[in-house]
Amino acid sequence: MGMGAWVCFECRIAVRRNTQYRGQVPCPECGKRCAYLGYKIPVPPKSKPRLWQQLQVQLARERAEAHQQAVLNNTRLRHELEREIARIERLPTNPGRRSLLRQLQNRLSYL
Ligand SMILES: [Zn+2]
Repeated sequence: MGMGAWVCFECRIAVRRNTQYRGQVPCPECGKRCAYLGYKIPVPPKSKPRLWQQLQVQLARERAEAHQQAVLNNTRLRHELEREIARIERLPTNPGRRSLLRQLQNRLSYL
């Protein structure tokens, strides 16, 4: 809750909105889409282009790491499901096995 900042790195402008806001925030200067900065990171002064550049690099790195982590989590989950499917396929047939296998394969197909 509270106010968060969206920034345009080219114009070095911050736009503040409620953090619940989910739409796109256009830069009031150039009209391009602002990047969400959050509410914890302080916005650098407009007169400090180097700080803005560092912030942009830092933000890009954090996004890349978060993405990488999401890919890793997805891969791990996929392997767990594949292992579970293989384990169940080795079990003797019983009434619940087919539907359980179908459920797991269905979940796998959404990864
Ligand atoms: Zn702009």
